[in-house]
Amino acid sequence: MIIIVTGVSGSGKTTLGSQLAKKLRLPFFDADDFHPTANVEKMTQGIPLTDHDRQPWLLHLADKIQEWESEGGGILACSALREHYRQILQVVPSIVWLHLIGTKDLLTERLSLRKGHYMNPGLLDSQLETWEEPEYGHRIDISKSPEEMVQDILKIEEVNKPSLHFGVIGMGVMGKSLALNLADNGIPTAVYNRHVTGKEEKIASSFVAENSDFPLLKGFDDLDEFVKSLEKPKKILLMIPAGAAIDMQIAQLLPVLESGDIIIDGGNSFFEDSKRRFEELDAKGFHFIPMGVSGGEEGARKGPSLMPSGNQESYDFVSPYLNKIAAKDKSGAPCVTFIGKSGAGHFIKMVHNSIEYGEMQALAETVHLMKYGLKLSYPEISGILRSWANEGLKSFLLEITASILLAKEGKDFLLDQVLDKAGQKGTGSWSLTTALKYNVPYSPLSEAVTARMLSGDKSDREALALYFGHRFGAFGEDKVILIEKIKNAYAFSRLINHEVGFDLMEQVSQAENWNLNKSEIARIWTNGCIIRSTLMETMVTMYQENSSLLTARQLKTKIKEMRHDLSYIVGLGLQHNYALPVMSAAINYFYGRITADSSANLIQAQRDFFGAHTYQRRDDPEGPFHHSDWKGSIPKW
Ligand code: NAP
Repeated sequence: MIIIVTGVSGSGKTTLGSQLAKKLRLPFFDADDFHPTANVEKMTQGIPLTDHDRQPWLLHLADKIQEWESEGGGILACSALREHYRQILQVVPSIVWLHLIGTKDLLTERLSLRKGHYMNPGLLDSQLETWEEPEYGHRIDISKSPEEMVQDILKIEEVNKPSLHFGVIGMGVMGKSLALNLADNGIPTAVYNRHVTGKEEKIASSFVAENSDFPLLKGFDDLDEFVKSLEKPKKILLMIPAGAAIDMQIAQLLPVLESGDIIIDGGNSFFEDSKRRFEELDAKGFHFIPMGVSGGEEGARKGPSLMPSGNQESYDFVSPYLNKIAAKDKSGAPCVTFIGKSGAGHFIKMVHNSIEYGEMQALAETVHLMKYGLKLSYPEISGILRSWANEGLKSFLLEITASILLAKEGKDFLLDQVLDKAGQKGTGSWSLTTALKYNVPYSPLSEAVTARMLSGDKSDREALALYFGHRFGAFGEDKVILIEKIKNAYAFSRLINHEVGFDLMEQVSQAENWNLNKSEIARIWTNGCIIRSTLMETMVTMYQENSSLLTARQLKTKIKEMRHDLSYIVGLGLQHNYALPVMSAAINYFYGRITADSSANLIQAQRDFFGAHTYQRRDDPEGPFHHSDWKGSIPKW
């Protein structure tokens, strides 16, 4: 949209135009700044300009108007006293004319108050004589205050029509919810979904029609129209499946975008892909923001946790929007922060999901132990989980688990109708390969992924259960004491899950030079995301003071107590035929980390024995590698 504010000198074009520009978030231009020097000199000396003088100036302005429109619009203050001048400026159809009208007395008074302006008040008469009042556009009474005039102008339909600030591609679960969240926060939003003839047609326009109570949403079934509707720099959020779909969508967008436009990938893309895309798009002059989004459908609608990365300059363009739609932490700050360079945002989303896997598996093991080992009913277990929430173990996943245990289908518990085969894809398995690539111990969280894989072949499990006569044993011990121990075992497994995930972040951050801030990452995960919890809230301060949860002084006494209970419960569970992959990996990881004198000397000796792989010596741990003649060193007995 181009707005031209006309009127004689002293009518307040600059004041009004610049205030209006702020409100409409459009750039402001003063036509006087485009006069050639000769014109300025004439006006300073009080010599009226001739039409001959004005012609090159007006033609130059006409070029500029076309340029501004192609860049998203602007507001121009220009006297444009005669119809002939205005016709020269009428080079685009979307011009909104605002004519400032006031009495000669008022104009004279205003001009007399001006300082440092080259317009001689003596020229007012000649301007008023020249002024040809147009029959189109909007008359604005300058006796009102600038604020009142702006308010009046904002009510004009042509001015008020939304220019779209944000675009969302992909009207699936997440895209729809985020689009509604954007519109709910006052952000005019364009939405688009691919067209697949006979299958996926008019998805975006139907979605907008279904949500007619959101006037700031506009639906497009044509990609070009969608892109054209967005203001510059265009900000487009992709909420589509990871992998080839992202590359294809970007390839379709690039020809209709311009350098400086911004693409945000809000899906669960593999961070190595995001690193590549960032390099490619950066080289072509586009901003690319790999952004993790967590919170599921409800979070996306009401406030997700957002993990954008790429470069700071790109982030600065979108941060006002992201701040609005993100969840808020306890202090009211948005759960979004610039994570780091390149694909860092998708990397930490992958770690987030990996911790999520660990948390879910630890809860599943906990419920299983109570259901079969303690013979508790689902409502009883639900009640226990709820009481734990009040004892420092509150988390979103604990709370939904307590609710799931109560859900019924007729007389039956709904959970018992759910087939015990858990799926895993994407972020789960990527976190394992990443941990291996960067040489980071990850067993508790990789066990959570492996457990899902093991669950996948139900018929194999059933056949082997029969073959070995597998049954869960009941625990004969005091229930109250065991429940307390299971609680501690669960709590400690969780602590280890978080330690392992955040340690992967630390190691990869160093390798990639991402400078990840673990405390700030914990902060944006305190709300909006699936792994939000009171533990996460305490981690914000713990990571300000420590690099590891294991060395956080607040936890030392508690860890000593919890580790015994975890060892006990894992031992008890294994003796009674329970698979406890995450709990047992957690306690093994912990003892592996705190063992000063490990068994790895024998591993090194074996390697050197059969493969001459060499080893370092205890008496010179940083020293050279040695090879021994092991067979020759064996004394004759
Ligand atoms: P979804 O409900 O399956 O929707 C996927 C959307 O992508 C649909 O609009 C679909 O359009 C579109 N799409 C599919 N293939 C496409 C292609 N080749 N080109 C262009 N568009 C295509 O998925 P979602 O749950 O919204 O997830 C979107 C992204 O967010 C995924 O990366 C997902 O991993 C991530 N994510 C999901 C959640 C969650 O809780 N669901 C949470 C965080 C992140 P059609 O309707 O035409 O098929």
